Parts: sequence; structure tokens; C-alpha cells
Amino acid sequence: MQTKILLPEDRLPKQWYNIIPDMPGQMAPVVHPGTLQPVTPDDLLPLFPMPLIEQEVSTERWIDIPEEVRDILRLWRPSPLIRAHQLEKALGTPAKIYYKYEGVSPAGSHKPNTAVPQAYYNKIAGTKRIASETGAGQWGSSIALACQHFGLECTVYMVKVSYGQKPYRKSMMQLWGANVLPSPSNQTNAGRSILARDPDNQGSLGIAISEAVEDAATHEDTRYALGSVLNHVCLHQTVIGLEAKEQLAMVGAFPDVVIGCHGGGSNFAGIAFPFIADKANGREIRIVAYEPASCPTLTKGTYAFDYGDTAKMAPISKMYTLGHDFMPPGIHAGGLRYHGASPLVSQLLHEGVIEAKAVAQTACFEAAVLFARTESIIPAPESSHAIRGAIEEALQAKEEGKEKTILFNLSGHGHVDMTAYDAYFNGELEDYDYPAEAIRESLSHLPKIG
Ligand SMILES: *Cc1c(COP(=O)(O)O)cnc(C)c1O
Repeated sequence: MQTKILLPEDRLPKQWYNIIPDMPGQMAPVVHPGTLQPVTPDDLLPLFPMPLIEQEVSTERWIDIPEEVRDILRLWRPSPLIRAHQLEKALGTPAKIYYKYEGVSPAGSHKPNTAVPQAYYNKIAGTKRIASETGAGQWGSSIALACQHFGLECTVYMVKVSYGQKPYRKSMMQLWGANVLPSPSNQTNAGRSILARDPDNQGSLGIAISEAVEDAATHEDTRYALGSVLNHVCLHQTVIGLEAKEQLAMVGAFPDVVIGCHGGGSNFAGIAFPFIADKANGREIRIVAYEPASCPTLTKGTYAFDYGDTAKMAPISKMYTLGHDFMPPGIHAGGLRYHGASPLVSQLLHEGVIEAKAVAQTACFEAAVLFARTESIIPAPESSHAIRGAIEEALQAKEEGKEKTILFNLSGHGHVDMTAYDAYFNGELEDYDYPAEAIRESLSHLPKIG
């Protein structure tokens, strides 16, 4: 009864899978927020180094992973694929459940998979410092550790309310050498103007993005880095699905359904995209993204052009969106509180290649607790959405008496999120109503393009 399916280090993928040449239909252009015209590579150069801009639009199906990047990824990759025997037993399901465990990375999530190549390409392009933002701190700690490997300075604008509430994430970033500033800060015009009006402002991800983007755009030696949504981020995460496919083949398995939680789309893309290629070749396989019911971008959003950030400084993309000024309720899965979605994931949903479902927060914590009591790993609140999805599929298989194979991505552990579990056990977690009115209001502010 094999439980952990492990790949030797020399089977760490040598190439990323780029889904762009295999996308169904034409891809929409990315639009400049100022001119409302399609962006050119030159427009993006103040923010990103050229190799990443090239990856953003590349039509090469396979892109080599530089050896310098593989050397760092090897510190924790290939990550294990685990057969959830104990969870299957507890559910009494005939389904086989496998999960890819990305919590083995030093930051505890999938995010270093892209932080490392982003830092590397910045280094070879001559960048001295990276400016970025973080909400709950998972991306900030990933980019901090990656900068450390390549001798880059790192400035992280951390949403002020999280800076106070998540002191250990801040400590992790500082330990990995980053300069962490509570946002809004007095380091940028964006931050100063907000503090002038409202000295006690607790910050938001939108404000923190604006500060990091301004910092990068106004310093010649500084570039910006984003932890999700963009095509090159989804590309870097495909190591997850590529490894999983090999690991499943080692035990003669292939999934009937592939599941990931969805915030901006990167860990979902990572596990799903390599299997979408099989689906295009005629394999029968369902691919499902799970998102919070209180921030239901894919299931209740509109497929339209919208800004990537609240302050309308980031490029405009065609994606599922709840509106750039939508403020989701304060659920504990902080990494799933984004108004938009990856344009690639959005187009695949629009074309009917993938499915999306929304789940309530308490149902996810119930699933997380069952998982922790069977498989023992404490999941990140974000990842619990994927666990919920896998459990629903497994219970359906039981009802139908079907032996199906389920693969999901366990995007991270919850060791730094124990206050969320405390809140759950204290009965303080609530399910928010679907914020219909707020979404209707924010969707009336979309830019008019095309
Ligand atoms: C950030 C994060 C997510 C959400 O981001 P995606 O880009 O949608 O993957 C999910 N799980 C964990 C553990 C995270 O840290």
C-alpha cells in the first residue's frame, strides 16, 4: 500500500509547459491603463525584466528551466505526491485520492516555484532590487527567500492590518533579508497621499500594489514582481502538474478529475495546465477550480477587460472579474481574496475547458479539520478549498459506486495561520452572504474597451 510517491532529484522537470500555443481561440490583448491601447514590451520594461516579458507572450510550447533555477528548486523539489489512504478510509469512498504537497517548500506554499525564476531573470537582467507587495505574507516570504539566493535586495509593502496580525510572516521575510514596510507607507507618493487624508488607514492589497509598482517605476535599478495571475507565473508553476503526471504514471494511475483552489489562478494553473494538454488530445478528464463563495470571481464574475489593481495603475486584462474596486469580506483564506483571475484560466473557463465551483468558508474549515485528523498535515486555509472539492468528488463517487481517481493540489501548509483555526474552534468563523450588491456596484466601474 504505497503512500508517498517520490521522484528522484534528477527527474525535476527540465522545461516548463507553456499553454499559450494550445489555447482555444484567440487571446485578448493586454491594455495600457493610461492610453487604453495594447501594451508593448517597452511599456512593461520599467516593471519587469525582458526575459519575463518575453515569457509572458511566448508561443514556444516548452521553455527550458535554467540550471541556476533548478539548483534552487532542488532544495525541496520534486515535491511528494501522496495517496490519501487515511482520508479515503474515513470517507468510505471507492475513489482514489492523490494530492500533490507544495507545503514542503521553505515558505510553506507553491509560491517559491515562481519567486525563484523571477529573481533569477531579474538578476541576469541587471536588477539590483525587487519591490513587491504582500497581503497575508505568503508571497512576500517567497520573494524574500528567492532574492536572497541571487543577491538581490527586496522591499515588501505589507498590508498594514496583516503587518500587525501576522507578525511571524513579517519575521520570516526579515530573516530572509527583506525590508518590510507596513502599507500605506511614507516611502511613496501613493502611500503618503493616503496617510495625509487618513493617518490610521489599515491598507489594502490594492494600495500595496500601487506602492510597489510606483517604487519600481521610479527607481532605475528596481523591478516589480507579482506572485500570481500573469502568464509567466502560471508557466513557472507547471512543474507541479508535470511532476504529478510522472508520479501518477509510476503507480499506473491517471486522474478522472483534477482540482485546485483558486485565488489569482497560479497553483490551479500549475497542477491543471499539463493535464489540459491531455484533454485536448481526447483524454476524458474534468478540471475544476474551487474558490470562496464570498469572493466568487470565476462563478459570479463577468468576463471583461478590467484593471489588475484598485488604483488603476496596473495593466488591463480580459479576465473574470468582480470589479477592480470590489472589497471582499475578510475571510481567513487571505490568498483567495483577489477581484480578478489569470487571463489564461479565465479564457479556459469561458471556452468550457475547465469548470469552477464556489464553497463557503466554514465548509472548507470542516474539510481542513477532517484532513488534519486523517492525513495529519495542517492545510493552509486557501488549500482547504481544494480539499473540500476533493471530498465532494469522493462522496459523489461513493454514492454512484464509482472507482474514480481524484488529484488535487495541496498548495500549502497552515503553520502560520493557526489564528484562523483558533477562530474556527471558538465558533467565530461565519459564512458571508454572497455580496451581490457590492459586486453589482463594482462591476459598473469597468473600463470601456473594444
Ligand atoms: C497565495 C496562495 C494561494 C492562492 O494563489 P493562487 O495564485 O490562486 O495559487 C493558494 N494557496 C496558498 C497556500 C497560497 O499561499
